[in-house]
Amino acid sequence: MDFAISPRAEDLRAQLQAFIDERVAPAAPVYIEQVRESGDPHFHPPVMEELKSEARARGLWNLFLPNPKWGAGLTNLDYAPLCELMGRNLLAAEATNCAAPDTGNMELLAEYGTAEQQEQFLIPLLEGEIRSCFAMTEPWVASSDATNIQSTIVRDGDDYIVNAHKWWTSGAASSRCTVAIVMVVSSPDADPYHRHSMILVPLDAPGASIVRTLPVFGHDAGGGHCETLFENVRVPVGNVLGGEGNGFAMAQARLGPGRIHHCMRAVGLAERALELMCRRAWNRAPFGKPLAEQGVVQDQIAESRMEIEQARLLTMKAAWLMDTVGNKGARFEISAIKVIAARTATTVIDRAIQVFGGAGVSDDWPLADMYTHARTLHLVDGPDEVHKMQIARRELRKHQPSSP
Ligand SMILES: Cc1cc2nc3c(=O)[nH]c(=O)nc-3n(C[C@H](O)[C@H](O)[C@H](O)COP(=O)(O)OP(=O)(O)OC[C@H]3O[C@@H](n4cnc5c(N)ncnc54)[C@H](O)[C@@H]3O)c2cc1C
Repeated sequence: MDFAISPRAEDLRAQLQAFIDERVAPAAPVYIEQVRESGDPHFHPPVMEELKSEARARGLWNLFLPNPKWGAGLTNLDYAPLCELMGRNLLAAEATNCAAPDTGNMELLAEYGTAEQQEQFLIPLLEGEIRSCFAMTEPWVASSDATNIQSTIVRDGDDYIVNAHKWWTSGAASSRCTVAIVMVVSSPDADPYHRHSMILVPLDAPGASIVRTLPVFGHDAGGGHCETLFENVRVPVGNVLGGEGNGFAMAQARLGPGRIHHCMRAVGLAERALELMCRRAWNRAPFGKPLAEQGVVQDQIAESRMEIEQARLLTMKAAWLMDTVGNKGARFEISAIKVIAARTATTVIDRAIQVFGGAGVSDDWPLADMYTHARTLHLVDGPDEVHKMQIARRELRKHQPSSP
């Protein structure tokens, strides 16, 4: 294993750090104020467009895309420390056009899109002109098993008629989100792994609507997590992405890089929480001495440091494997780090909240927001249990008794 990052990535890391310190961090209160003043929690504040222009001018744009035709052309290993930095500040990923779910969607379009689909959807996404969403999860079936998805498309001449009821479609409530990649059943009689397709559906198509946004722990912000309905929506047959029946395989392909990006950002979140915890521990002194001098707090800080180091190393290993043997060859490490990174982030943030006392759960500090985000990582892109099931199955297969 070789986890050394390239000189180019080192350089980009320094530039990204400077951009975050000089521009992104000071913009955070402006962002909050502009959204508050608008009265719409999904408002797209002008300050974000300013940050995007600046990021672009500094060459900090589409860093996530390994294909140099479309993006920065960095390896996953090189991207890991950059993405970790983005995780420390919740605005940085969007400012650099590296935010989920667009990143996964852009990867799909770059890999499987036709020239027309790339022209119509990928280019505006790469330019940061529009945003997109990914609609797979459904309210009425256990969607952690993608073979359960029930929404449909039916061919009618040169069109497909889409009927889909989805929820947790992240980002759809933003006025800038104009297209959804929707997972549907296209060949009901095929085997469970070739029954589904992905189809590009413009959100302004007649019949497409947002029923509501779903707050997370009471918070509803940033494009929302939406219940979405597609009722007899007509789209051209050319909007199927990657060919009919390939939806399941593409969902797996999409989730590989998407998952590792979540992990890289989660390590960044945990680092930030530890930093905040340490600073607070020096500044608060109950019972005659700073918290930093209490053995219990020191234990929590030490545990946090050790867990973060472990999570980072496993993230790097998964990224290195993706680069050297491909996403498929790295799937067990990706599953493992998906569980570990979420756990590390929630655990470290939770400890930081405790050290902060009441301030930790207030909105005066970012910890409550960070915790909310980290907690959802145990669910999104496959709940922990599904990843553990896959890891356990692999282990068990190695020791399966041979049949008599
Ligand atoms: C904030 C947020 C954002 C999201 N964004 C999107 C998005 O943009 N697009 C999208 O399509 N979806 C999105 N999701 C949905 C997310 O991907 C699903 O919630 C997740 O896949 C689980 O599906 P489900 O909710 O249907 O849970 P179910 O499938 O009903 O599973 C419920 C629980 O069962 C348990 N479980 C599952 N399998 C096993 C097993 N084998 N063994 C033991 N226990 C098991 C797990 O604990 C799981 O949480 C988002 C969710 C959240 C919370």
